[in-house]
Amino acid sequence: MAAPAVAGRFQSLKPSATVEMSERVRQARAQGREVIAMNSGDPNLDTDPRIIEAAHRAMLSGATHYGSSIGERPLREAIARRELQRSEVAYDPEDIIVTPGGKFALLSALMGIIEPGDEVLIPQPGWVSYGPCVRLAGGEAVPVRMLDTFDVDAINAALTPATRAIIVNSPVNPTGRVLTPAEIEALVAVAEKHNLWIIYDQVYTDLVYDATVAFPQATASGYARTLVVDSLSKSFGMTGWRLGFLAMPPGLAKFVVKFIQHSIYCVPPFIQAAGSRALELAPELLPRYRALFNERVLRATAALNGVDGVSITVPDAGFFLFPKVDGDEVSIARAWLEQLNIAVLPGTAFGNAGAGHLRMSLSCPEADLEVALQRIADAGI
Ligand code: PLP
Repeated sequence: MAAPAVAGRFQSLKPSATVEMSERVRQARAQGREVIAMNSGDPNLDTDPRIIEAAHRAMLSGATHYGSSIGERPLREAIARRELQRSEVAYDPEDIIVTPGGKFALLSALMGIIEPGDEVLIPQPGWVSYGPCVRLAGGEAVPVRMLDTFDVDAINAALTPATRAIIVNSPVNPTGRVLTPAEIEALVAVAEKHNLWIIYDQVYTDLVYDATVAFPQATASGYARTLVVDSLSKSFGMTGWRLGFLAMPPGLAKFVVKFIQHSIYCVPPFIQAAGSRALELAPELLPRYRALFNERVLRATAALNGVDGVSITVPDAGFFLFPKVDGDEVSIARAWLEQLNIAVLPGTAFGNAGAGHLRMSLSCPEADLEVALQRIADAGI
């Protein structure tokens, strides 16, 4: 007799395009090919040794047991202080939940506010995991096209009586754009008018160059309806530590924490000790990392603009480029992998609104970046 069926929620779920490409790169490298990986959002930053030492010390002092499900108090206090500095919002540490990475913060937020069948608006191009996380939480993901503007008309056109939330990411992965204060105001206004939750993913905020950053949670009516998703992954070279958090309006954490209690129980306490140390070191580390990525972004943007068939503007933040390319983005990404040994993602991995673009991650070592830019310049589009 055939085995029982796998749950429908997984059958209909697409694998992550970014994780799949990383697997393909791993396989190609195992076969001896020297592929330059410009596909993954995992920056080539080694975790600062002082952060590693903090985890080690915590383990040696016994932080190897179950911890508190909401998160260790010192880390939540440090996060609250940091949010006060960044967005000027005074979160009570009791409204902050520590999660294993930003991805789980997003899933936890959705588990907290989405009922089966609720619709969640997702601006596109957008990060690959928004739609799947909405589906895992029982909701329906509704993509809304808006390449380089926050388009309120498109939001209005997508609204139905079942719309419950909107997920907004700024700086945006994949475009590197920071939403303007006017766009954040428009987001809060539309959410207020239609009584929507806002899930605000700010994981790249530490890597903003010159743009003015606005936060929906910092507005009077945005605070009560915004769930903030954040992570230490990208800012501190800590992707593998799996450490993020969710900051919420008062009263929600006591519900959402049940998801943590009944799934992972807690983020390992020694990982959280490392997180506290990372936040202490933020004033020293973040400017250094920001400068490093800014240099790469300027260098790569200038080089790509010299290639026929490619055009690109300098992103406001982060280490992603989203160049426009003359031609079919899927074929170009495939050709770059097969012929140039450069792994990038087609813009359509981030939704149909990404057609005609590639997403290139400047997360590889400088020397590899130079080689890749030279190969692209030599080959053209
Ligand atoms: N949000 C965005 C826009 C991302 O690009 C990522 C990672 O790629 C995340 C959230 C989650 O990162 P992590 O789970 O490593 O914190």
